[in-house]
Amino acid sequence: MKSLPRIHPVYAEMGTTVFERMSALARETGAINLGQGFPDGPAPQPLLDAAARALYEKSNQYPPSTGLMELRDAVCVHYARTQGLALSPAEVIVTSGATEAIAAAVLALVSPGDEVILFQPAYDAYAPMVRRAGGVPVSVLLEPPHFRYDPATIEAAVTPRTRAIMLNDPLNPAGTVASAEELDAIARICVVHDLVAICDEVWEQVRFDGVAHRSLMVCDGMAERTVKIGSAGKIFGLTGWKIGWIAARGNLATALGRVHQFLTFTSAVPLQWAVAEGLGMADVLADLHAGWAASRARLKAGLEGAGLVVLPNAATWFLCVDLAASGVALTDRDFSERALREAGVATVPVSALYEGEGAPTHIVRLCFTKPDAVLDEALARLGAWVRGL
Ligand code: GLN
Repeated sequence: MKSLPRIHPVYAEMGTTVFERMSALARETGAINLGQGFPDGPAPQPLLDAAARALYEKSNQYPPSTGLMELRDAVCVHYARTQGLALSPAEVIVTSGATEAIAAAVLALVSPGDEVILFQPAYDAYAPMVRRAGGVPVSVLLEPPHFRYDPATIEAAVTPRTRAIMLNDPLNPAGTVASAEELDAIARICVVHDLVAICDEVWEQVRFDGVAHRSLMVCDGMAERTVKIGSAGKIFGLTGWKIGWIAARGNLATALGRVHQFLTFTSAVPLQWAVAEGLGMADVLADLHAGWAASRARLKAGLEGAGLVVLPNAATWFLCVDLAASGVALTDRDFSERALREAGVATVPVSALYEGEGAPTHIVRLCFTKPDAVLDEALARLGAWVRGL
């Protein structure tokens, strides 16, 4: 008898990610998709023009594996301006989105048996990647509604095998931001235990608290032990472009470049040109931000108007609703399934972004980066459906 192809155990039992599943269901059923995070208004015209010009006027052949020099330069200038970082282009590697950057970082840093501290909730790509690298994810739970980092709990999760910590700040799905004290405490733990920090900072530009983003990279002792990951998809609301980057110092950057060269080698070059130009377009960035802030206020007011309790949030494209506090006696998964089929609105159950024990089951996430009419229709549908529960 012929044997079946053997699939790596990490993938053999794996389902489809909640984001893909919700988007597919929304497409199938015609539901309004407030699940997977993406804006669906018009893309910024100057970015589209820049990409079109690049297609016609620039080379369409391989750029350097680590990315166009012009883009790496623009990323350095952007970070110097917005976060006071002093990076050189040699310390930036352009990737096919942040998800590739995360994979490159994990593959470069995690060896079999290494433990990696993952805060929960987390992007559901982290743990499988750690496992595929032979590492062991170690969960540290963050509790709603504030999702604070407790240094004692983190410290207790560290063992002699701990190699790295993965930090998503601002935090998706919660939309919360780590305080300076929390970042300093995490940095101290990394330094004392000689850990590397893989920092998924894709929401760094999507903050509504008026505070400039502060990377873990600037904390004492962290410059040489931080992998900072950014995303043009999030900065410009162009999630399908899949242009991201990694910033890291010295031999860390070299190692990440080596992984990247055999993961994707490089990323779509016209889009790299466009992002390089776009990072200099202060007006475009300001307009995008203002639009998202208005959409956030609109969804928040509408949800509250429908009697739903919205958790505190300072960043990301998402608002979270506390079902229990809203008097909705459904688990988040039931709510999401039923809202999709009965109200025609897709959401994300936050427990899908936790692994193992202890996930809260009373929170759902909604994406607000949609045109006003879409938000209003979603609110009308959800409001009527919730009233009838
Ligand atoms: N960041 C996206 C979200 O939170 C998910 C990313 C993806 O679907 N690959 O919705």
